[in-house]
Amino acid sequence: MDTALGSTRPRLRIGLIANRAHQDAPDSALVQLFQRAKKSIQALDIEWVVVGRTLDAIQTHGLTTLCQPHVRFPYGREGGLMKLVAHVVNSDPHNSIDAVIYLIDPVDHSSIFPEALALKRQCVIHRKPFLSTLAAACEWLELEALAQGDRDHVGDGVGLNLSQESIALIAHDALKQNMLQIAEKHFSLLDQFAHRYATGTTGSLLNQLAQKIKGEQAGRNWVKPFLSGPMGGDAQIAELVLDQQIRRILFLEDPHVARQHEADIQLLERAARTVTDFALVISDGEGSDRWLRLLNERLKLV
Ligand code: PGA
Repeated sequence: MDTALGSTRPRLRIGLIANRAHQDAPDSALVQLFQRAKKSIQALDIEWVVVGRTLDAIQTHGLTTLCQPHVRFPYGREGGLMKLVAHVVNSDPHNSIDAVIYLIDPVDHSSIFPEALALKRQCVIHRKPFLSTLAAACEWLELEALAQGDRDHVGDGVGLNLSQESIALIAHDALKQNMLQIAEKHFSLLDQFAHRYATGTTGSLLNQLAQKIKGEQAGRNWVKPFLSGPMGGDAQIAELVLDQQIRRILFLEDPHVARQHEADIQLLERAARTVTDFALVISDGEGSDRWLRLLNERLKLV
Protein backbone atom coordinates (compact mmCIF):
# COMPACT_ATOMS: atom_id res chain seq x y z
CA MET A 1 0.00 0.00 0.00
CA ASP A 2 2.97 2.33 0.17
CA THR A 3 2.61 3.23 -3.48
CA ALA A 4 -1.09 3.90 -3.04
CA LEU A 5 -0.26 6.40 -0.37
CA GLY A 6 2.59 8.07 -2.21
CA SER A 7 2.62 11.67 -3.30
CA THR A 8 0.82 10.98 -6.57
CA ARG A 9 -2.04 9.36 -4.70
CA PRO A 10 -3.81 11.85 -2.50
CA ARG A 11 -6.15 9.36 -0.91
CA LEU A 12 -6.43 5.74 0.09
CA ARG A 13 -9.50 4.48 -1.76
CA ILE A 14 -11.39 1.73 0.03
CA GLY A 15 -14.31 -0.23 -1.41
CA LEU A 16 -16.94 -0.95 1.24
CA ILE A 17 -19.87 -3.32 1.28
CA ALA A 18 -21.63 -5.23 4.03
CA ASN A 19 -24.08 -8.07 3.63
CA ARG A 20 -27.54 -7.25 4.88
CA ALA A 21 -27.25 -9.04 8.23
CA HIS A 22 -24.24 -6.84 8.96
CA GLN A 23 -25.98 -3.55 8.15
CA ASP A 24 -29.14 -2.70 10.03
CA ALA A 25 -28.88 -3.49 13.75
CA PRO A 26 -27.52 -0.77 16.05
CA ASP A 27 -24.62 -3.11 16.86
CA SER A 28 -24.18 -4.50 13.34
CA ALA A 29 -20.68 -5.21 12.07
CA LEU A 30 -20.93 -2.12 9.85
CA VAL A 31 -21.71 0.12 12.84
CA GLN A 32 -19.01 -1.54 14.91
CA LEU A 33 -16.48 -0.97 12.14
CA PHE A 34 -16.98 2.79 12.29
CA GLN A 35 -17.15 2.82 16.08
CA ARG A 36 -14.12 0.64 16.77
CA ALA A 37 -11.92 2.00 14.01
CA LYS A 38 -13.11 5.60 14.33
CA LYS A 39 -9.77 7.12 15.26
CA SER A 40 -7.85 5.12 12.68
CA ILE A 41 -10.35 6.17 10.02
CA GLN A 42 -9.98 9.80 11.06
CA ALA A 43 -6.18 9.49 10.92
CA LEU A 44 -6.20 8.03 7.40
CA ASP A 45 -7.14 10.07 4.37
CA ILE A 46 -9.77 7.75 2.92
CA GLU A 47 -12.08 8.03 -0.02
CA TRP A 48 -14.84 5.47 0.43
CA VAL A 49 -16.41 3.71 -2.50
CA VAL A 50 -19.60 2.32 -1.05
CA VAL A 51 -22.07 -0.06 -2.64
CA GLY A 52 -25.67 1.26 -2.60
CA ARG A 53 -27.53 -0.24 0.33
CA THR A 54 -24.46 -0.20 2.55
CA LEU A 55 -24.28 3.57 2.06
CA ASP A 56 -28.01 3.85 2.86
CA ALA A 57 -27.33 2.00 6.14
CA ILE A 58 -24.38 4.26 6.95
CA GLN A 59 -26.65 7.27 6.47
CA THR A 60 -29.43 5.73 8.57
CA HIS A 61 -26.99 5.08 11.41
CA GLY A 62 -25.76 8.68 11.28
CA LEU A 63 -22.23 7.61 10.35
CA THR A 64 -21.89 9.69 7.20
CA THR A 65 -19.38 12.11 8.70
CA LEU A 66 -16.94 9.21 9.23
CA CYS A 67 -17.52 7.99 5.69
CA GLN A 68 -16.42 11.19 3.91
CA PRO A 69 -15.64 11.73 1.16
CA HIS A 70 -17.46 8.93 -0.54
CA VAL A 71 -18.57 7.74 -3.93
CA ARG A 72 -21.82 5.83 -4.22
CA PHE A 73 -21.75 2.68 -6.30
CA PRO A 74 -25.00 1.09 -7.54
CA TYR A 75 -26.99 -1.37 -5.45
CA GLY A 76 -25.79 -4.95 -5.63
CA ARG A 77 -28.67 -5.98 -7.86
CA GLU A 78 -27.69 -3.21 -10.25
CA GLY A 79 -24.05 -4.31 -10.46
CA GLY A 80 -22.38 -2.45 -7.60
CA LEU A 81 -20.19 -5.41 -6.68
CA MET A 82 -19.27 -6.03 -10.31
CA LYS A 83 -18.12 -2.42 -10.60
CA LEU A 84 -15.97 -2.85 -7.50
CA VAL A 85 -14.17 -5.76 -9.19
CA ALA A 86 -13.50 -3.61 -12.25
CA HIS A 87 -12.00 -0.88 -10.06
CA VAL A 88 -9.81 -3.32 -8.12
CA VAL A 89 -8.15 -4.42 -11.36
CA ASN A 90 -7.96 -0.90 -12.80
CA SER A 91 -4.37 0.28 -13.05
CA ASP A 92 -5.28 3.98 -13.30
CA PRO A 93 -4.33 5.29 -9.86
CA HIS A 94 -7.19 7.78 -9.95
CA ASN A 95 -9.77 5.10 -10.48
CA SER A 96 -8.44 2.03 -8.79
CA ILE A 97 -9.48 0.77 -5.38
CA ASP A 98 -6.63 0.04 -2.96
CA ALA A 99 -8.39 -2.27 -0.52
CA VAL A 100 -11.81 -3.84 -0.06
CA ILE A 101 -13.75 -4.19 3.16
CA TYR A 102 -16.55 -6.67 2.51
CA LEU A 103 -18.28 -7.64 5.73
CA ILE A 104 -19.53 -11.04 4.73
CA ASP A 105 -22.37 -12.96 6.29
CA PRO A 106 -21.52 -16.54 5.27
CA VAL A 107 -25.18 -17.53 4.99
CA ASP A 108 -26.05 -14.63 2.69
CA HIS A 109 -26.30 -16.10 -0.80
CA SER A 110 -24.99 -12.95 -2.44
CA SER A 111 -21.62 -13.59 -0.75
CA ILE A 112 -21.09 -16.54 -3.07
CA PHE A 113 -22.30 -14.88 -6.26
CA PRO A 114 -19.64 -14.95 -9.01
CA GLU A 115 -18.91 -11.25 -8.58
CA ALA A 116 -18.27 -11.76 -4.87
CA LEU A 117 -15.82 -14.59 -5.57
CA ALA A 118 -14.20 -12.60 -8.37
CA LEU A 119 -13.79 -9.61 -6.04
CA LYS A 120 -11.79 -11.69 -3.59
CA ARG A 121 -9.80 -13.41 -6.33
CA GLN A 122 -8.87 -10.19 -8.09
CA CYS A 123 -7.84 -8.62 -4.79
CA VAL A 124 -5.45 -11.55 -4.27
CA ILE A 125 -4.14 -11.32 -7.85
CA HIS A 126 -3.62 -7.56 -7.67
CA ARG A 127 -2.28 -7.75 -4.11
CA LYS A 128 -4.91 -5.59 -2.56
CA PRO A 129 -6.16 -6.35 0.93
CA PHE A 130 -9.50 -8.16 0.96
CA LEU A 131 -10.90 -7.72 4.44
CA SER A 132 -13.95 -9.88 4.94
CA THR A 133 -14.32 -9.88 8.71
CA LEU A 134 -14.86 -7.10 11.22
CA ALA A 135 -11.68 -8.11 13.06
CA ALA A 136 -9.61 -7.94 9.86
CA ALA A 137 -10.98 -4.55 8.84
CA CYS A 138 -10.49 -2.95 12.26
CA GLU A 139 -6.95 -4.23 12.72
CA TRP A 140 -5.94 -3.37 9.16
CA LEU A 141 -7.18 0.22 9.54
CA GLU A 142 -5.34 0.54 12.83
CA LEU A 143 -2.09 -0.82 11.37
CA GLU A 144 -2.35 1.40 8.30
CA ALA A 145 -2.91 4.42 10.54
CA LEU A 146 0.19 3.37 12.44
CA ALA A 147 2.10 3.07 9.15
CA GLN A 148 1.11 6.67 8.45
CA GLY A 149 2.74 7.71 11.69
CA ASP A 150 -0.36 7.84 13.87
CA ARG A 151 0.93 6.46 17.16
CA ASP A 152 -1.64 8.15 19.37
CA HIS A 153 -4.48 5.78 18.76
CA VAL A 154 -2.70 2.48 18.95
CA GLY A 155 -4.71 0.14 21.10
CA ASP A 156 -8.09 1.36 19.87
CA GLY A 157 -8.59 -2.02 18.28
CA VAL A 158 -8.68 -5.46 19.79
CA GLY A 159 -6.11 -5.93 22.55
CA LEU A 160 -2.98 -7.74 21.45
CA ASN A 161 -1.29 -10.50 23.35
CA LEU A 162 0.24 -12.94 20.91
CA SER A 163 1.25 -15.34 23.67
CA GLN A 164 -2.46 -16.02 24.11
CA GLU A 165 -3.22 -16.29 20.41
CA SER A 166 -2.77 -18.97 17.81
CA ILE A 167 -2.06 -18.59 14.12
CA ALA A 168 -2.61 -20.85 11.12
CA LEU A 169 -0.09 -20.91 8.27
CA ILE A 170 -1.11 -22.41 4.94
CA ALA A 171 0.38 -22.09 1.48
CA HIS A 172 -0.57 -23.59 -1.85
CA ASP A 173 2.23 -25.37 -3.67
CA ALA A 174 3.49 -22.49 -5.82
CA LEU A 175 3.62 -20.28 -2.74
CA LYS A 176 5.29 -22.57 -0.24
CA GLN A 177 8.70 -20.95 -0.79
CA ASN A 178 7.09 -17.57 -0.28
CA MET A 179 5.62 -18.81 3.00
CA LEU A 180 9.04 -20.03 4.12
CA GLN A 181 10.59 -16.65 3.31
CA ILE A 182 7.88 -14.84 5.26
CA ALA A 183 8.19 -17.24 8.19
CA GLU A 184 11.97 -16.84 8.28
CA LYS A 185 11.76 -13.05 8.06
CA HIS A 186 9.15 -12.81 10.82
CA PHE A 187 10.27 -15.83 12.79
CA SER A 188 10.64 -14.12 16.15
CA LEU A 189 7.15 -12.61 15.86
CA LEU A 190 5.60 -15.93 14.85
CA ASP A 191 7.52 -17.59 17.67
CA GLN A 192 5.61 -15.47 20.19
CA PHE A 193 2.27 -17.10 19.40
CA ALA A 194 0.95 -19.65 21.86
CA HIS A 195 0.45 -22.16 19.03
CA ARG A 196 1.12 -22.34 15.32
CA TYR A 197 -0.96 -24.64 13.14
CA ALA A 198 -0.62 -25.58 9.49
CA THR A 199 -1.86 -27.93 6.83
CA GLY A 200 0.28 -31.04 6.39
CA THR A 201 2.90 -30.20 3.79
CA THR A 202 3.19 -26.53 4.72
CA GLY A 203 3.59 -27.58 8.35
CA SER A 204 6.40 -30.03 7.75
CA LEU A 205 8.33 -27.44 5.69
CA LEU A 206 7.86 -24.88 8.46
CA ASN A 207 9.09 -27.32 11.07
CA GLN A 208 12.22 -27.94 8.97
CA LEU A 209 12.78 -24.18 8.92
CA ALA A 210 12.24 -23.97 12.68
CA GLN A 211 14.75 -26.78 13.25
CA LYS A 212 17.28 -24.85 11.19
CA ILE A 213 16.70 -21.74 13.28
CA LYS A 214 16.04 -23.14 16.76
CA GLY A 215 17.87 -26.43 16.62
CA GLU A 216 16.72 -29.93 15.81
CA GLN A 217 14.90 -30.65 19.07
CA ALA A 218 13.46 -27.22 19.85
CA GLY A 219 12.17 -26.68 16.31
CA ARG A 220 10.69 -30.13 15.83
CA ASN A 221 7.15 -29.24 16.84
CA TRP A 222 7.19 -25.52 16.16
CA VAL A 223 4.06 -25.92 14.05
CA LYS A 224 1.36 -28.50 14.61
CA PRO A 225 0.61 -29.93 11.17
CA PHE A 226 -2.90 -31.12 10.42
CA LEU A 227 -3.83 -33.19 7.39
CA SER A 228 -2.78 -31.91 4.01
CA GLY A 229 -5.24 -29.36 2.60
CA PRO A 230 -6.75 -31.66 -0.05
CA MET A 231 -7.16 -34.38 2.62
CA GLY A 232 -9.17 -32.13 4.96
CA GLY A 233 -6.57 -30.05 6.82
CA ASP A 234 -8.40 -26.81 6.01
CA ALA A 235 -11.53 -28.17 7.69
CA GLN A 236 -9.56 -29.21 10.77
CA ILE A 237 -8.16 -25.70 11.07
CA ALA A 238 -11.64 -24.23 10.46
CA GLU A 239 -12.95 -26.02 13.55
CA LEU A 240 -10.35 -24.31 15.73
CA VAL A 241 -11.29 -20.98 14.17
CA LEU A 242 -14.97 -21.60 14.95
CA ASP A 243 -14.02 -22.50 18.52
CA GLN A 244 -12.06 -19.23 18.67
CA GLN A 245 -8.77 -20.99 19.29
CA ILE A 246 -7.17 -19.68 16.09
CA ARG A 247 -7.59 -15.97 15.41
CA ARG A 248 -5.22 -15.34 12.53
CA ILE A 249 -4.93 -17.27 9.29
CA LEU A 250 -2.17 -16.57 6.79
CA PHE A 251 -3.34 -18.46 3.75
CA LEU A 252 -1.13 -17.88 0.72
CA GLU A 253 -3.55 -18.75 -2.01
CA ASP A 254 -2.66 -19.52 -5.58
CA PRO A 255 -5.42 -17.87 -7.62
CA HIS A 256 -4.04 -19.10 -10.93
CA VAL A 257 -4.64 -22.84 -10.62
CA ALA A 258 -7.75 -24.96 -10.42
CA ARG A 259 -7.98 -26.29 -6.87
CA GLN A 260 -9.55 -29.66 -6.39
CA HIS A 261 -10.32 -28.81 -2.78
CA GLU A 262 -11.83 -25.39 -3.52
CA ALA A 263 -14.76 -26.24 -1.24
CA ASP A 264 -12.40 -26.79 1.68
CA ILE A 265 -10.66 -23.48 1.04
CA GLN A 266 -14.02 -21.70 1.00
CA LEU A 267 -15.03 -23.58 4.14
CA LEU A 268 -12.06 -22.19 6.04
CA GLU A 269 -12.77 -18.64 4.93
CA ARG A 270 -16.42 -19.02 5.81
CA ALA A 271 -15.43 -20.22 9.28
CA ALA A 272 -13.52 -16.97 9.84
CA ARG A 273 -16.56 -14.97 8.68
CA THR A 274 -18.78 -16.92 11.06
CA VAL A 275 -16.77 -15.41 13.94
CA THR A 276 -16.39 -12.06 12.21
CA ASP A 277 -15.42 -10.01 15.25
CA PHE A 278 -12.72 -12.52 16.19
CA ALA A 279 -10.92 -14.01 13.20
CA LEU A 280 -8.97 -12.61 10.29
CA VAL A 281 -7.61 -14.10 7.07
CA ILE A 282 -4.80 -12.69 4.96
CA SER A 283 -4.62 -14.27 1.53
CA ASP A 284 -1.47 -13.05 -0.20
CA GLY A 285 2.24 -12.95 0.54
CA GLU A 286 2.80 -9.22 0.22
CA GLY A 287 -0.15 -8.48 2.46
CA SER A 288 1.04 -11.04 5.02
CA ASP A 289 4.55 -9.60 5.07
CA ARG A 290 3.26 -6.07 5.57
CA TRP A 291 0.74 -7.16 8.19
CA LEU A 292 3.38 -8.97 10.25
CA ARG A 293 5.81 -6.07 9.98
CA LEU A 294 3.22 -3.56 11.18
CA LEU A 295 2.04 -5.93 13.89
CA ASN A 296 5.61 -6.07 15.14
CA GLU A 297 5.77 -2.26 15.23
CA ARG A 298 2.41 -2.14 16.96
CA LEU A 299 3.60 -4.58 19.65
CA LYS A 300 6.58 -2.38 20.44
CA LEU A 301 4.17 0.45 21.25
CA VAL A 302 1.89 -1.48 23.59
P1 PGA B 1 -0.64 -28.54 2.22
O1 PGA B 1 -2.12 -27.99 2.04
O2 PGA B 1 0.06 -27.63 3.17
O3 PGA B 1 -0.80 -29.91 2.82
O4 PGA B 1 -0.01 -28.56 0.87
C1 PGA B 1 -2.33 -26.67 1.63
C2 PGA B 1 -3.59 -26.62 0.79
O5 PGA B 1 -3.50 -26.99 -0.39
O6 PGA B 1 -4.67 -26.21 1.28
